[in-house]
Amino acid sequence: MTNDTTIFDKIISKEIPAVIVFEDEFVLGFKDINPQAPIHVLFIPKVRIATLNDVNEGNVDYVAKLHLAAGKYAKEIGEHENGYRVVMNCNANGGQTVFHIHMHFLAGRQLTWPPG
Ligand code: 5GP
Repeated sequence: MTNDTTIFDKIISKEIPAVIVFEDEFVLGFKDINPQAPIHVLFIPKVRIATLNDVNEGNVDYVAKLHLAAGKYAKEIGEHENGYRVVMNCNANGGQTVFHIHMHFLAGRQLTWPPG
């Protein structure tokens, strides 16, 4: 259910391990456990927002912070010129499986379009 806590809460609290590549006051970035590209990182807000449908005037800054984090990370790892993709999936048709919003950051290969 979308109101339940998720595995990502446990990654934020460091109860379960993850390969963390970015962290600030608002955002955590860690490697996806099932990478779809040579570089596949998930950027998540440190507060739980279940889906993109739950973004509102009060929490939208977190979404901006995800973009800021992704851009900083791309520069840090030197992939900003080659390029990368950020994706957020919403609910069943979007392919969302973890109900704590997350920005997929994919880089390191030529990505195709449209996605499947
Ligand atoms: P979604 O399908 O919801 O857009 O993406 C969820 C992502 O979380 C998937 O790419 C999946 O591989 C990743 N994931 C699920 N559980 C874990 C976990 O315990 N650790 C890490 N690092 N990634 C996870």
